[in-house]
Amino acid sequence: MTNASEYAKNVQEKIHQRNSHETEFLQAIDEFLPTIIPFLENHPEYAAQNLVSLITEPERVIQFRVPWQDDQGNWQVNRGYRIQFNSALGPYKGGLRFHPSVNLSILKFLAFEQIFKNALTGLPIGGGKGGSDFDPKGKSDGEIMRFCQSFMLELSKYIGPNTDIPAGDIGVGKREIGYLYGTYKRIKQYDAGVLTGKPLEFWGSKGRAEATGYGVVYFVKHLLNDLNEDFHQKVAMVSGSGNVATYCIEKLYQLGALPVTCSDSSGFIYDEEGIDLALLKDIKEVRRERLTEYVKARPNAKYFPGETVWDFEVAAELAFPCATQNEIGLDQAKVLVKNGVRIVAEGANMPSSLEAADYFIEEGLYYCPGKAANAGGVAVSALEMSQNSQRLQWETEKVDQELDKIMKNIYENCRDTAKEHQAENNFMLGANIAGFKRVAEAMVIQGLV
Ligand code: GLU
Repeated sequence: MTNASEYAKNVQEKIHQRNSHETEFLQAIDEFLPTIIPFLENHPEYAAQNLVSLITEPERVIQFRVPWQDDQGNWQVNRGYRIQFNSALGPYKGGLRFHPSVNLSILKFLAFEQIFKNALTGLPIGGGKGGSDFDPKGKSDGEIMRFCQSFMLELSKYIGPNTDIPAGDIGVGKREIGYLYGTYKRIKQYDAGVLTGKPLEFWGSKGRAEATGYGVVYFVKHLLNDLNEDFHQKVAMVSGSGNVATYCIEKLYQLGALPVTCSDSSGFIYDEEGIDLALLKDIKEVRRERLTEYVKARPNAKYFPGETVWDFEVAAELAFPCATQNEIGLDQAKVLVKNGVRIVAEGANMPSSLEAADYFIEEGLYYCPGKAANAGGVAVSALEMSQNSQRLQWETEKVDQELDKIMKNIYENCRDTAKEHQAENNFMLGANIAGFKRVAEAMVIQGLV
């Protein structure tokens, strides 16, 4: 064992001892640490400074009570969080997730991933994440509003346009961002730069809603370019039906691919002729209904209640998991390989388990990890911050061009970094080392504080 691998292993063990119940956070750590060993080997100073221990401990963890009143007048209580993980590159930046599964472990994994994702964008943003175990499903508009108001009443103490800038994630879209900002404004100064993913009616950026989904497809576009291929007639499996999946499907169509699946937490749709995008948008964005509605309007499509799309056998070359963490385990990874999938690009954060990701890499697939492939969302969030500071709104074309450029840089950075470390096509290793390098250098320059 080299000094670097011994050091990484010791740190990994300590993190496990300290955070023994935080399964998802430990999974993110276990994916990350082994891949940066080749870099640490060339940089013994980082082990000497114990930098890996510093970078894996959040700078600050905030937890608070969120009381709110439901439509029947009963008081309910949820838990709110903000993890301010790393500010070496800039103010904390990362979304808010409202979902019943939310806990400290999930938010720490998301915030940890966010540090390196944000670093890969090349923009001046640190890493953070927050949210609540509040379940927006089935709640009235009034309940959502009262929850957001109560959540922000507390969160406003810890954020600001130059310190910590939350955005959306699962369960938090422009409606919630609007309610959150309404409350922030009444407590603090009027500066909508404190949140991103805002509606276009006030300080939002054109192209932000589309950015994550478009970005993941742009990442693959640059990869296909390298392989002298394009999207034409390639069948794509997509999971999810939120913001990321919807705009991933839209961009896939624009570039000539055929997306045939989408899903929500109750089941998945297979539409052999291609997902009807207008229908999907109407159901999810306008009516806020379940995918069961889809087959009512398109009887030729098939709906599989209670099943995951990743157990489905269908010939496809591309897979875009855009739902949530750990949706693809080893068994599902095997199904994808059998289906003929060659490229897996993650629109969601950590949708592949560690075993699944390792399997993809072993089998020679192009595995494009979330922290690289889905960075388009936060990248356009950072562009929204720039526009807010300038008191300007850019045109859609400008935002889209910047997004494509950023995704190209991220792809090339992952590709080249992997190659430099004798791990050609291992984008997981490339993304982790490239992200780590940028953050580590900034931390050292700042005196490791
Ligand atoms: N929640 C998104 C992510 O996982 C976007 C965060 C942001 O825009 O700040 O990257």
